[in-house]
Amino acid sequence: LIFLFSFSSFKNEKSYNGNSDIPNTIESKVDSILSLMYLNEKIGQLVQYSGGWDATGPSSSKGDQHKLDKLKKGEVGSMLNVSSVSAIRETQKLVMEHSRLKIPLIFGYDVIHGYKTIFPIPLGETASWDLDIIEQSASIAAKETAASGINWTFAPMIDVSRDARWGRIMEGAGEDPYLNSVVGVARINGFQGNDLSDIHTIAACAKHFAGYGFSEAGRDYNTVSIGEYELHNTILPPFKAAAEAGVATFMNSFNDIDGIPATGHKLLQRDILKNEWDWDGFVVSDWGSIGEMIAHGYAEDKKHASEIAMNAGSDMDMESYAYEAHLESLLKEDKISIAQIDEAVKRILRIKFELGLFDDPYKYCNEDREASEVYTKEHLAIARDVAKKSIVLLKNENKILPLSKKLKSIAVIGPLANDKNSPLGNWRAKATYNSAVSVFEGIKNAIDNNTVVHYAKGINLTIPTVEEGSNQFLHPLKFNTTDRTGIDEAVEIAKKSEMVVLAIGEDAYQTGEGRSQTNIGFFGLQNELLEAVYKVNKNIVIVLMNGRPMDLSRVSEIAPAILECWHLGSESGNAIADVLFGDYNPSGKLPVSFPHHVGQEPLYYNQKNTGRPYSATHVTFSGYRDAPKSALYPFGFGLSYTTFDYNKLELSKNDISKDGELKVSVNVTNTGDRDGEEVVQLYIRDLVGSLVRPIKELKGFKKLMLKAGETKTVTFVINSKTLEFYTANKKWEVEPGEFNVWVGGDSNATLKGSFKVSSN
Ligand code: BGC
Repeated sequence: LIFLFSFSSFKNEKSYNGNSDIPNTIESKVDSILSLMYLNEKIGQLVQYSGGWDATGPSSSKGDQHKLDKLKKGEVGSMLNVSSVSAIRETQKLVMEHSRLKIPLIFGYDVIHGYKTIFPIPLGETASWDLDIIEQSASIAAKETAASGINWTFAPMIDVSRDARWGRIMEGAGEDPYLNSVVGVARINGFQGNDLSDIHTIAACAKHFAGYGFSEAGRDYNTVSIGEYELHNTILPPFKAAAEAGVATFMNSFNDIDGIPATGHKLLQRDILKNEWDWDGFVVSDWGSIGEMIAHGYAEDKKHASEIAMNAGSDMDMESYAYEAHLESLLKEDKISIAQIDEAVKRILRIKFELGLFDDPYKYCNEDREASEVYTKEHLAIARDVAKKSIVLLKNENKILPLSKKLKSIAVIGPLANDKNSPLGNWRAKATYNSAVSVFEGIKNAIDNNTVVHYAKGINLTIPTVEEGSNQFLHPLKFNTTDRTGIDEAVEIAKKSEMVVLAIGEDAYQTGEGRSQTNIGFFGLQNELLEAVYKVNKNIVIVLMNGRPMDLSRVSEIAPAILECWHLGSESGNAIADVLFGDYNPSGKLPVSFPHHVGQEPLYYNQKNTGRPYSATHVTFSGYRDAPKSALYPFGFGLSYTTFDYNKLELSKNDISKDGELKVSVNVTNTGDRDGEEVVQLYIRDLVGSLVRPIKELKGFKKLMLKAGETKTVTFVINSKTLEFYTANKKWEVEPGEFNVWVGGDSNATLKGSFKVSSN
């Protein structure tokens, strides 16, 4: 009878009413399947393997025999890193044609900022503070991913990240919990759309749960030492927002928090995420993180690690080979329960149903779509739009920018100036090597033949360690510190040009996983190149390409203009030219503080009050003796080719109850002679709390377009959601007392009001 069993009776119909009595809801279908499953099949659903076979499909010649056997037996729930329609179809076939219950696989992949059409790295894209385009870029990434057969991305990363040394800072939305929450939700909405069964959407994954961004000293995979209140107030809010937004999956994390590895953290996964937040998706472990609990010295062996992870609520084992080997005996020994296994299986089946994989396991396998819906002109046009909106103008002395298109000559210089690879950034999914538009190309595209554009690389930033085009992801970088032969040529063209555009910063692979650095300055010979060029031409526009906040102290001392261009993706050079020549007026704002010196890290605007806050005036100097305490470029900062003025801050009330509400309004005027967009930011401070409170906290923002001379009134609502925090009572509540409120164009906003919250 089992062999006659068909999933056609399990057609995908979504039900959100949670009423499992209604036949044919996803819940009832999940239950029916579960009732048919043997233990080995249940455990199999909790297993995820990586496929090393890419476009060629499954192969037994690469030592994959174990995986192939397990797939055929129906003892695998998911694959990652299988990334072409044909390979996915072939893999799915192993399950559909050989296994007893034919439960389709879900295919995952790291689609972090685009699939083939590459968007700015997530940190850079966050600098747009434009939730619509952030959602749009994720939805295009989803479209291309789904057209290539994949159902699930391991994104967004919503780890609050405050340490520029940490290589993975490029993958997230920066230092602020609120910004991470809203940007994370925009990305989730973009990936998942309204309906996971739509062939243009994919399941998203909120990662890394939790605390990974707080790795001590910015060293990747390092220990995390934070207390309960910091966890709740700073790290968890973006994850709660993701759960509320209906993110399909969570990924746990490599780090321990105060001694407990996140993968074995019951309080986090079972108690908070699944019970308190009532979230019904599934948790995938990070790569091998169940097994890594042995190296942590938290588990004796893989069996013990499996016991800890299952009890803690980790549902799917990514590449630890632990669950498949040990869950059965752990169950026999009563170390885990069948209820736990069933629950994990149900969570996974639920998402497979929502994706429509039971309707048609090959639903996402369509070669025509793979060829026609990926890397299209339309997608590239949107990538350019997102890229230009992600650029932050950090400095613009004497309005040296925008450049005139009538310049007689421009010298385009630097190791990154004609680099077509670095702008793609790290985690570039299926991008073609060297496929980005370089700055040099972008500039040439933007102007006519009357301007002479000279180009000189000046220096190589790195020395190749892998063959051109092969995957640098797995290899260390080597920097050029000796070959200066190109500097003279750069100096020559700088001498004879009206203007210099100098593209420096970081190689694509200086950030990302396992790419932490103690130095956040310019590697290799870039400083020498800068000084040499500066000697002969002071009209330097720095085009900065990087994945982390850098030490810009010297650059900002000497260069009249600095454009923060991150790693902007496929259309990088065109987007940069749009801003350089004023076809687009820059509107980005920093999602993370830029320090004067690496020694200030971790540096973030929303630090807590200290007992000695008044550095210069206080008897004991509370900053550093050799560096300022504040940022060189603060969180939220970014200039425009026009200027904005803030005035008339008004509060609708000065006294509200704990569940009351007030409105804050402000007039913003474009006081320059160009139209432009401004990100209007709202900050608050809770003056006295049951815990020490941050000196300022972002609580809202609006990005608006203002014509030259135009004034608009911007209004924010402040209510209990704005004011509550995880208090000394260990719950989210509003505490009565005085609050300050600021509205302005960055975290140093000075236009201020205040109000009181009374206890009733
Ligand atoms: C990373 C994850 C990623 C996973 C799969 C891990 O090393 O920490 O963020 O999703 O690999 O590639």
